[in-house]
Amino acid sequence: MVNGHLRSFALLVLFGGFGLGFAQAQPAIQPKADITQVPVAAQPSAYFDAEAATEAYMAMIPPEATARSNAYFEGGYWLILWDFLYALVIALLLLNLRWSARMRDLAERITRFKWLRDAIYWGQYLLLTTVLGFPLEFYEDFLREHKYGLATQSFWPWMGDQGKGLLLGLVLGALAVVLLLAIVRRLPRTWWIWGAVAALGMIVVASVITPVFITPIFNKVTRLNDPKITVPILRMAHANGIPANDVYQVDASRQTTRMSANVSGFANTMRITLNDNLLRRGSPEEIQAVMGHEMGHYVMNHIPKSIFFSAVVYLVFFAFLRWGVDWTLARWGTHWQVRGITDPAVLPLVFLLAGIFFFVLTPVLNTETRMHEKEADMFGLNAARQPDGFAQSAIHLSEYRKMRPGKWEERIFFDHPSGYDRIHSAMVWKGENLELFEKATGQPVAEPPAAH
Ligand SMILES: [Zn+2]
Repeated sequence: MVNGHLRSFALLVLFGGFGLGFAQAQPAIQPKADITQVPVAAQPSAYFDAEAATEAYMAMIPPEATARSNAYFEGGYWLILWDFLYALVIALLLLNLRWSARMRDLAERITRFKWLRDAIYWGQYLLLTTVLGFPLEFYEDFLREHKYGLATQSFWPWMGDQGKGLLLGLVLGALAVVLLLAIVRRLPRTWWIWGAVAALGMIVVASVITPVFITPIFNKVTRLNDPKITVPILRMAHANGIPANDVYQVDASRQTTRMSANVSGFANTMRITLNDNLLRRGSPEEIQAVMGHEMGHYVMNHIPKSIFFSAVVYLVFFAFLRWGVDWTLARWGTHWQVRGITDPAVLPLVFLLAGIFFFVLTPVLNTETRMHEKEADMFGLNAARQPDGFAQSAIHLSEYRKMRPGKWEERIFFDHPSGYDRIHSAMVWKGENLELFEKATGQPVAEPPAAH
């Protein structure tokens, strides 16, 4: 998403020489067995057992691959903490060294228009925090991704994306800051309610424009013309009430080896998109299984439901913000030279409080997402009827996700069901629908005839 790209050009010169040595991606450790061959224990038989079938799929993942993806995924738990602490330190520096107050003073000297002062403050703030945040961003999004063989971009193209993200952040962020500060000034008593409403409105607009306007800034989106791929997908879409007539592909391999897909937009912007990694590496069964899952998100209105959930979260956050800003400014406002909530110099404090709030809420937000993902899994199994394709996709995703977490580990850190859980659900589904697979030797039966 946009946030991930909000970084800088400014340390280009400093770090320029560095990245060049990390240009090639190390490929992920591949299973030695062909994962499109259904293992014996997962083939239909009178003795079919979902647990044994699940273990047979799990056994296809080499132990060294599991060790590597566990290390990557568990490192991600720590990054949640380091990201939080790093942002906390930056915010406290900006306030305590009065850099925030100075950026505001400069904006006030440049113009007398309040909205323009807010936008100028935002520009300085974003540039400064991008520079200060660059070392962690460089490690997290470049070095670490290359170390685990998940990134495909060499240093300069990566910096190019960072630069585009920064420009987007300057423009879209300025619009957001100007709007929110105008609300705070106009509505001194109820700003926290209207601020939450405005923030929600901006999220909705962002989710509508992202696939059509933002994604093409970073990647090439093209129409997919291979009927072997598109016909089964569109047939499944129409059977499930999705009014799409085209399938698109996006060249995600420009940045990453991860496989993904989505169904996005409303009405006229509605589209089905597959990334090229999925197209290149996934079997037809796997592609259908993944698309069934993505269609589940759409059919079960997960985006509107998430927006409703966000409305509640934002309202609580803005109430916390109102209290938190009053409380901290009463103590340190004079020292920081921050005048109040209507002063743009308050922004580092707002981000600091947001950091604390959303850090604490991590397990709640993950659980909300994970519940939707579980629903989409079950929908996808029923819609695509490709449990083995679904197991294949879980194995592919195991390149960067831990397959067998502990119960609490899954509840706190996982925003998707674990790989083990996904294969297990697929094998339970298969066990209850064995007659669909009995004709061929373990391979899914042929497609049902076309409806038209
Ligand atoms: Zn999903």
